[in-house]
Amino acid sequence: MADHERPVDGVPRVIEKTLWEDDRHMNRRFHGVFSLLLVFGALIIGLVSVFHESVAMGVVYLVIILVSLPTIVYAFCSKCTCRLDSCGHVLPGPLTRWLPQRKQGDYTRLDFAGLLVPFLVLAAFPQWWLWKSMVLFAVFWVLFLLGLVEIRRCVCPDCTNKRCPLCTRPVG
Ligand code: SF4
Ligand code: SF4
Repeated sequence: MADHERPVDGVPRVIEKTLWEDDRHMNRRFHGVFSLLLVFGALIIGLVSVFHESVAMGVVYLVIILVSLPTIVYAFCSKCTCRLDSCGHVLPGPLTRWLPQRKQGDYTRLDFAGLLVPFLVLAAFPQWWLWKSMVLFAVFWVLFLLGLVEIRRCVCPDCTNKRCPLCTRPVG
């Protein structure tokens, strides 16, 4: 029997390794979805805050959200190597099937702009209205920053998108 097949505590090592990898994969997906929920929660708080003060500006922010999210997915996820089989955030990767297809390869400056500009606009737009309520302002930033920390700490370390500058997964 090969060394990697010898049982440990009654569980063959091959099976134990597979179970451990499955567990890790599930853990990353959980944090991937949870982190998106936190960021979406922040955006909803922002949207409610803007609508509360001005319906017209609320509609503008809603349009910004509806345009920005697919733009981010198109600019960044469409070129991600793990988008169809192991997207850490579960949903954005498969969503790229519905967008114009792109050749996978290194990200260009335009791709990074397509990620960062909509992202910054999403975060910045509601600040004027959020600032009028300290509670909503605080909830927005707690959810938003927790989402980002969650991604950085629990999703990036196992992400296989090697072309992303934030990917910290070891080579191999
Ligand atoms: S892993 Fe990240 S870049 Fe790749 S498809 Fe998922 S969300 Fe997009
Ligand atoms: S390494 Fe990049 S693509 Fe992967 S989860 Fe982190 S930010 Fe997203």
